[in-house]
Amino acid sequence: MPDTAAPRRDFVREMVAEDVATNRFGRPVGTRFPPEPNGFLHIGHAKSICLNFGIAQEFGGRCNLRFDDTNPFTEDIRYVEAIKGDVQWLGFQWDAERYASDYFEQLYEFAELLVRKGKAYVDSQSEEEIREGRGTVTTPGRESPYRSRTPEENLDLLRRMRAGEFPDGAHVLRARIDMAHPNMIMRDPLLLRIRHASHYRRGSEWCVYPLYDFAHGLSDAIEGITRSLCTLEFKDNRDIYEWLVREVGFETPPTQVEFARLELDYTVLSKRKLLRLVNEGHVSGWDDPRIPTIAGLRRRGVTPEAIRAFAEAIGVARKDARVELATFEHHVRDDLNMRVPRVLCVVKPLRVVITNYPEGQVEELEASYYPHDVPKTGSRMVPFSRELYIDRDDFMEDPPKKFFRLAPGREVRLRYGYFITCTDVVKDASGEIVELRCTYDPATRGGDAPDGRKVQGTIHWVSAPHALDCTVRLYDRLFTVPNPDDVPEGKDFIDALNPESLVVVQGAKIEPSVAGDPSGSRYQFERTGYFVSDPIDSRDGSLTFNRTVTLRDSWVKVKDK
Ligand code: ATP
Ligand code: MG
Repeated sequence: MPDTAAPRRDFVREMVAEDVATNRFGRPVGTRFPPEPNGFLHIGHAKSICLNFGIAQEFGGRCNLRFDDTNPFTEDIRYVEAIKGDVQWLGFQWDAERYASDYFEQLYEFAELLVRKGKAYVDSQSEEEIREGRGTVTTPGRESPYRSRTPEENLDLLRRMRAGEFPDGAHVLRARIDMAHPNMIMRDPLLLRIRHASHYRRGSEWCVYPLYDFAHGLSDAIEGITRSLCTLEFKDNRDIYEWLVREVGFETPPTQVEFARLELDYTVLSKRKLLRLVNEGHVSGWDDPRIPTIAGLRRRGVTPEAIRAFAEAIGVARKDARVELATFEHHVRDDLNMRVPRVLCVVKPLRVVITNYPEGQVEELEASYYPHDVPKTGSRMVPFSRELYIDRDDFMEDPPKKFFRLAPGREVRLRYGYFITCTDVVKDASGEIVELRCTYDPATRGGDAPDGRKVQGTIHWVSAPHALDCTVRLYDRLFTVPNPDDVPEGKDFIDALNPESLVVVQGAKIEPSVAGDPSGSRYQFERTGYFVSDPIDSRDGSLTFNRTVTLRDSWVKVKDK
């Protein structure tokens, strides 16, 4: 169960606390998370999930998972399954699993009720005419010539719409409100339209589909929701929400409350855009570790705890604001730091031969999995031998003064091992460095010199004959600009993709202790970053690691230069 210690009091929670104190709804607190199953969930949805499920938990209420599945063209059972899995992975369990498509009958009954009350009518204008008739923000709309149909006439047409007598677009059901209403949404909004299409749950049973506004609020009301939490772009929909639940006759209907949606730098949080990235092959699928879907973040090695901590930290506000990627990454590091073992992996290997180390000798050095400031214990033995790999970036032939790693004539400490000094640099015909020759000081085993001499740097390494080959996927931000939607005329967010959002390195070398760890295991590769063995592609004999996040925000450094 998610930790709910000392939840923050935001304006939504203040409101709900007051509902409880005054028993405003006469029933327990009810919330719901209402995804449309037309794509995978992303970190923005996670914010909404943490809010809805969190409030139900904190106030002894209920939270439903409701699929707002009213569009037969875009929805799929595959998305339903993915959404359920993602909500559970985030650590939440719904009270009831509901589907707007199970309410089609009831919604249709409400439609007849509105017709009988004279509050809805069948309009037979074309879609085009309806759109034109709506007017603009500054000019009122025009009433449809069909607006004065009698309830009997409307009822007859509505029943025949339902019976499948008419083709798509022949008629629609509209609310009869006010064609001059200052809120354009209230100018006789559409409630039902004809769609001879197969729905993933209802098959071809239905041919009159409710529009979002008609289905959403009434579904909330049917479920006894108290506060219907949604994002700010639905502010204008609140009028129709209230109108419908009142006209249909709910006594203490739910009320809609809007909060700011999450917008995160260097990524996009729109299912439509994510769908495009997936469909056009810019990423490998809904679980590509570069996109901010829950499935992608999971495959990238992010934990549900980190996502919940992030959601908690950013809070819930009434006004939109972008969140820096660094804030998210901070919570990812914070969480992984306390939970994952440290291991040695050399991403860009450079061979080192210790010339004074006996040939054929192997020592086992004890290496602890956690640093002192992490309250976990455990260690493993790492083999040390005459031939090692270090990272290419840890050697410079002609280093600047501040380079505290290996260079000709310089001495460094090998993590958990010995001091070594570089004596020779071996190059191939093209001048590329292919090997270093070093000597070691046998008295420095464990990392200290008995004579008290100091070295400036400690580098990581692996024993060449023992190391395992692996593939390392270095993931980076997906876009080159903080707001990919903010692009010049004639361009779109696709143009802002970062061509280096994934760099695949083959032939990296990792210490042998990780052999046999289950896929999905998370680590810190010392001095390199946090990694996870890919849950799908990594297996014994073909190890693949995804970089979850670097150890520090390397982009801050770049910016500050
Ligand atoms: P679509 O573009 O398909 O409408 P959507 O992102 O609104 O996509 P829904 O499935 O309708 O997706 O969203 C389910 C719930 O998640 C809604 O209540 C919605 O307000 C909320 N939600 C969606 N995106 C965000 C976001 N970025 N931040 C916070 N909440 C979000
Ligand atoms: Mg939506």
